[in-house]
Amino acid sequence: MKVLILNSGSSSLKYQVFNMENEDVLAKGLVERIGSAGSKFSHKKILAEEIKELEIVKDVNNHKEAISLLVDALQDKEFGMLTDLSEIKAVGHRIVHGGEDFSDSMVIDDKVLSVIEKCSELAPLHNPPNILGVEAAKEYFHDTVQVGVFDTAFHQRIPRKAYLYGLPYELYEKYGIRRYGFHGTSHKYVAERTAQILKTPLEELKIITLHLGNGASIAAVKNGMSVDTSMGLTPLEGLVMGTRTGSFDPAIVPFIMDKENLNLDEINNLLNKKSGVLGLSAVSSDFRDLEQAEEEGNQRAKMALEVFVYNIVKYIGSYYMVMGGIDALVFTAGIGENSNTIRERVCNYLNFAGIEIDKDKNDIRGVEAEISTDNSSFKVFVIPTNEELMIARETKRLSMML
Ligand code: AMP
Repeated sequence: MKVLILNSGSSSLKYQVFNMENEDVLAKGLVERIGSAGSKFSHKKILAEEIKELEIVKDVNNHKEAISLLVDALQDKEFGMLTDLSEIKAVGHRIVHGGEDFSDSMVIDDKVLSVIEKCSELAPLHNPPNILGVEAAKEYFHDTVQVGVFDTAFHQRIPRKAYLYGLPYELYEKYGIRRYGFHGTSHKYVAERTAQILKTPLEELKIITLHLGNGASIAAVKNGMSVDTSMGLTPLEGLVMGTRTGSFDPAIVPFIMDKENLNLDEINNLLNKKSGVLGLSAVSSDFRDLEQAEEEGNQRAKMALEVFVYNIVKYIGSYYMVMGGIDALVFTAGIGENSNTIRERVCNYLNFAGIEIDKDKNDIRGVEAEISTDNSSFKVFVIPTNEELMIARETKRLSMML
């Protein structure tokens, strides 16, 4: 069974084709700069012994045109692997916000699509392009089942005491202002993988999952469910990130607006795009640059990395308490998978609690490994995330239920 997975952003479209008999990726690619000049289409056909690459630079005006490019490539004699589009049995979509309506993946029918549209209010930057992707896919795959996999779904069962803010309750009732959490597909994937590695049912484990990428979040996963997570109504809350503030005193917002004479768009831009380790360091939001700058003696880079690590440790401490212990700590995403120094610094804070990591085992990038010593009081893992595979599995599961 072949499935197509689509991840539609405002100006980009990423895709992968999976053979679900063995979960192999048959093709993947990306359309960049949709809607502006200089759009680029990059496609890879993946064979066991070689990769065939196709690149096309041409203006792509919208998501429908983007999908037509990949549809052509998938049926191309040299770069494709389909003789007919009907070989794609289901299309899975990454959908960022499912609000309170979806605690599981859904087959997308008109009713589900209208709820996703309603949730656009909570994710105005993300849900509208996700919807464009669904609509464009429907044009080419009319009779094919479309499945939505929501970033928020895994966190939908966090208890009320963890999702409510200390705001007037009417604001929750009127506008749905509460913690939703994001990166749910990634947190779920690495938690399930941890259970497999430990050969213990997920329902018996307490795991803290650290998704540390450009956007970063932590989840407390107890008995197979997310019971708390650091991102909130939007992906701005929680950890200090590449360019986002993370949590801070909300009174700072009107204070800065007043002092710097900023309007709503400008303050949003400052909090989302100019803050985090970029704002602290004035060097970069990329941890490779920051680590190099620190090595060269840049004090601001050093400071930004210290703040980043310290905030992670604070969350680990609180999730350790709310879950009443922990069996495993898992690092994933760009920074979590690749930066041994960030992992080491986080774990060094936890030495007092009996956590020990093995420097040699930790000297890895982008591969799955246990990095704790045999004496460590709980296990520490690096597990590369695979949100696309998780979406493909969900897409297969739901399409088989029809
Ligand atoms: P993601 O959003 O998961 O793709 O993660 C992207 C981030 O991972 C980049 O901005 C980098 O900060 C970080 N990253 C990628 N490779 C490395 C590396 N080798 N060392 C440190 N950080 C890395």
